[in-house]
Amino acid sequence: MQIFLTLDYELFSGANPGSVEKTILLPTRKLLEVADRHGAKFVFFVDSGYLARLQHFAPDYPGAQADYDAVRAQIEALDKAGHDIQLHIHPHWEDCTYDARGWKMDTSRFRIHSFTQEQIDDIVARYKKALTDIVGDKVFAYRAGGWCLQPFDKLGPALKKHGIWLDSTVYEDGLNSSQTHYYDFRGIPGKSLYRFEADPVKEDPDGYFTEVPISTYAVSPLFFWRFAWTKKFGSGEHKVYADGIGAGGTSGASMMRMLTRPTKSLVSMDGLRASLLQKALDANAKKDPEGNFVVIGHPKAVTPYALRELDRFLLYAEQRQHHVKTFSSFAKQ
Ligand SMILES: [Zn+2]
Repeated sequence: MQIFLTLDYELFSGANPGSVEKTILLPTRKLLEVADRHGAKFVFFVDSGYLARLQHFAPDYPGAQADYDAVRAQIEALDKAGHDIQLHIHPHWEDCTYDARGWKMDTSRFRIHSFTQEQIDDIVARYKKALTDIVGDKVFAYRAGGWCLQPFDKLGPALKKHGIWLDSTVYEDGLNSSQTHYYDFRGIPGKSLYRFEADPVKEDPDGYFTEVPISTYAVSPLFFWRFAWTKKFGSGEHKVYADGIGAGGTSGASMMRMLTRPTKSLVSMDGLRASLLQKALDANAKKDPEGNFVVIGHPKAVTPYALRELDRFLLYAEQRQHHVKTFSSFAKQ
């Protein structure tokens, strides 16, 4: 299989978004140590609204300027080292403000659909520019913030206009409806790559967009009980490097589903989930040996345990002749 190790490179969206050093820069350096041992490259989906807002506040606040410079330097280095830098949009940054005390977060408009067609066009243009200013004209792939890709009627034309033709947001059986989140990916084509036009869950062989879904793996309720327990009581190797707090987003109904019956779960390198990578690879390779295996992750969710599991996974994948690639390999084809 072709393996894509994708990382949503971002702070938290809760009241305390965390420090740049501990939530983004340090865990990213830790991930790179592991990847470098195997010559593997990541796909970074950079929360570019954050960058755009830092640029906005930098002239008035040295703290914002310092954070912008630090993140920019890391992104430049990632790009030079051959990692992909692609677009991740969390539009709530439009409503977040910065002063000497730091960020004042506002997630009332968490979904891009809360904005008008004109505003969405402007957001995609500015947020993409925040990346191309750093890495040049290499940005063509998208992942929706919080998986909130639907409805696609206002977002699709804006992505198209600004040259974004690959999406990697949807996943099999994905479903969430909470105060902040909404998406419904039930019934997507069972393929690891397909084209679409107006609706990301409906294949259209002549469509403009290419979808490379995030891979899934059937997980038993037992795992989620262990997950919940580790989250509550885990320490040491299960402790994240990050120092912020998330805003939540998993609805009570989704959580109940996971704790009571087997569910398709995202293949992820975050925390305890990294322990499932090998089995998930095997299960996906059995179904589609030539397909794409897309792993999601977040620097803010990196733990010492997850790094060790990722290291083991990359060795395992190498031995079985699977290849880690970036989305730029599609652009070159
Ligand atoms: Zn995100």
